[in-house]
Amino acid sequence: MRIAVLTLLLLACGAAALAQTTPPAAQPPTAQPAAPAAPATPAQPAFVTIKVDGTDNVYVFRYQGYQSMFVVTPEGVIATDPIGYLRPQAVKTYLDEIRKITSAPIKYVVYSHHHFDHISGGRPFKDLGATFIAQRRAKEHLEALQYSDAVIPDEVVDEKRTLALGGTELELSYVGRNHSDNSLVMRLPKEKLLFAVDFIPIEAVNFRNVPDSWPIEWEDSLKKVLAMDWDRLIPGHPYKGRLGTKEDVKNLLAFMQELSAEVKQAADQGKCADTAMKEVKLEKYQTWLSYGQYLAGNVERYCYWWGRGY
Ligand SMILES: [Zn+2]
Repeated sequence: MRIAVLTLLLLACGAAALAQTTPPAAQPPTAQPAAPAAPATPAQPAFVTIKVDGTDNVYVFRYQGYQSMFVVTPEGVIATDPIGYLRPQAVKTYLDEIRKITSAPIKYVVYSHHHFDHISGGRPFKDLGATFIAQRRAKEHLEALQYSDAVIPDEVVDEKRTLALGGTELELSYVGRNHSDNSLVMRLPKEKLLFAVDFIPIEAVNFRNVPDSWPIEWEDSLKKVLAMDWDRLIPGHPYKGRLGTKEDVKNLLAFMQELSAEVKQAADQGKCADTAMKEVKLEKYQTWLSYGQYLAGNVERYCYWWGRGY
């Protein structure tokens, strides 16, 4: 981890702390947890753009507790999640940050999945002529939901598509249902980088009672991600302020498998959901972000799965 990434780490920890100060009404419903343990540091900026160490043209834009990746090429920019939910300033800042680096056109905006807290606010990108891309079911959900601040995707991906622009390739892969039924994994083969949002929290317990999730199929999607060729993962939230590794994915898979097995046992003993939510602990993960806050909610999710069948 060299300086740029280290900087991201330091700033991101502050960002998580900043996100903690957001009033409850402004908290997005499906936001991943901000870092509860991070001390507030008033001097930390609300946003930062960092070029990913070791790359020529890959950037992470963080705004408060959210992150988006963008790739700059001579022929244009590939942006990802607009992260403008309830805060148009984030999108304006995102565009300003891109414009500090390049005047090349913004060709694409790729959605990680359909959840509003990540994909809202894309209208200014659309007005600049960007083509919006998402997994097919993301488009279906957004069409059905008719959320006023979400640009409907122009193009869809079923299983796989590779965007090629100005000498850079970005591979978009659907790896099955996990957190949502439409997560796209974005992989830069040359840079061996991934951008994946919400279904691979880094050293963090999953959000609340893991809404919109397929907990068992999720394990398969993590195995598919592990089988891909990559070294570093850009997450959609700062978590502990660093990029992820395959070790992190293995650890998440182990956490989910262990939790699933524990809760299945509790369900078989008739303890779901309230007793299991009090009793089930996985102490070896207690240093993970949001362990104290969300573990019981995670247990509740598996209680429905193993205790009720859904
Ligand atoms: Zn989400």
